[in-house]
Amino acid sequence: MESKPVVCAVCKHNGKQLCDPNCCFARHFMPSNLEDFQIVKQHFGITNFTKLVDKVADDQKDSAIESLVYEATIRRMTPIEGTLGAKAVLQDKIRKTIKELVRAKRKLESLKSTKTPITTPPFVADFDLNVVPVMENSTDSKEDNSKTGGSR
Ligand SMILES: [Zn+2]
Repeated sequence: MESKPVVCAVCKHNGKQLCDPNCCFARHFMPSNLEDFQIVKQHFGITNFTKLVDKVADDQKDSAIESLVYEATIRRMTPIEGTLGAKAVLQDKIRKTIKELVRAKRKLESLKSTKTPITTPPFVADFDLNVVPVMENSTDSKEDNSKTGGSR
């Protein structure tokens, strides 16, 4: 069975029957993924889009195409702010994350300075589980014992 030659959406738009072997658009705009092509076409126009990509060095064309697709997608979602709006949202998240990090660092430092013992205190090991503890500072501890039928 012979596989049918496939042409990317950009080459097809430009009247080609096949992509060149080194077509930089083939990985991004195959017939199975035409949504990105439509977004780019609406935002830039294919002629302008291909001119922008042609200006870029070959090893950076993939990044340029992804960037332009991203820009067109964001512009479609937020026509007023565009990528600037997306940048502002990300900067706000970074600011909040830095504040949270500073708070967590301060809390960690305060916990380190309290010198809380990590080992089990000796009195816990000798504690009799059958005896209900009575608080020495409590003024009504005797009343509590009488109500519960304390065994002391
Ligand atoms: Zn192509």
